[in-house]
Parts: sequence; structure tokens; C-alpha cells
Amino acid sequence: MKAEHNRVISVHYHLTGKLDNEAEELIEQTNEQNPFVFLFGSGGVLEDFEKNLKGKQAGDSFDFHIEAAKAYGASNDEYIAEVPKEAFFVEGKFDEERVKLGEELPMLDSEGHQLQGMVVEIGDNHVVMDFNHPLADYDLHFVGSVIEVRDATPDELDHGHVHGPHGHHH
Ligand SMILES: [Zn+2]
Repeated sequence: MKAEHNRVISVHYHLTGKLDNEAEELIEQTNEQNPFVFLFGSGGVLEDFEKNLKGKQAGDSFDFHIEAAKAYGASNDEYIAEVPKEAFFVEGKFDEERVKLGEELPMLDSEGHQLQGMVVEIGDNHVVMDFNHPLADYDLHFVGSVIEVRDATPDELDHGHVHGPHGHHH
């Protein structure tokens, strides 16, 4: 069975990323117990990821690159913000345990949406948070193989996501 719209695809992969002029670094690796499972055509993965897997069957291997522009885009300075330290106070004190350099923290924007931000600087009165996607600017390189391709169930199609051991549980 071939990977295409409305099928559930399980893959193993090794994902490395590369910034301009730097070496590839390991970003993510699946394993036997935790394959990556997705519903083809549901918009849950990068468009180019699906394009490269389309037509593949169980046992097929893959090795492809997705340039940053087609992955998570370029980082934007507008997504780097100074947040008053008071925003991280717990019982009147700055939360040093949680707010550390390189730490990713959930924050709310002015409209109440949750955003993940990374702590990039801690000053005397403010914390600088980077709300860019952690993989912004990275050219991605996926190497792996297809484990299984199956038809999605009517429920999965209805919900737009995969159910079962590696999918959603309700
Ligand atoms: Zn569901």
C-alpha cells in the first residue's frame, strides 16, 4: 500500500538540521517503540515532508532535505521580546528555578494564545524571550524508512488525526 492522502504512515527517521555555514546537528530520532505516525494530507506535517514520502511503501527508505524556507522559515527579530521580570514572579520572587537560559516556557500573548518562548537573556529588570520556532533557519535532513502504511479509519478521517498506540487517545 502506498503513502498518499487519507492513509496513516508510520516512519522511523533521523532528523538533522543545519544553519548556514555550520555542521549538521541531530535534532530528533525516532526508535522502534516510538515511530513517527501521521495522517497523510491532514496538514499535520510539513508539505515537503509529505511530498517526499508520497508513493512510498513499508520497507522503503528515504533520504531528503527540506530547506529552511520550506520548513520553519527564517527567524524574525520581531518575535524576540523583552518581558518584565515581574511576569515570572511566584509569591513575590523571580522564579529562578524555572526561568533559565535556553529553557522553553509557555507564555500567553496579548490575545490569550499560548506561545512557546525560549529564554535567551536574563537582565536586571527583564527577560528576553525568543518566540521564533526552535527550528527557524534550519535546513532539515531526514533519513529513515517507512514502517507501515494503512488506510485511515473513518473516525481518524473525521477527526483529522491518528488514533491508536502512537496517535491520539480520547
Ligand atoms: Zn480523534
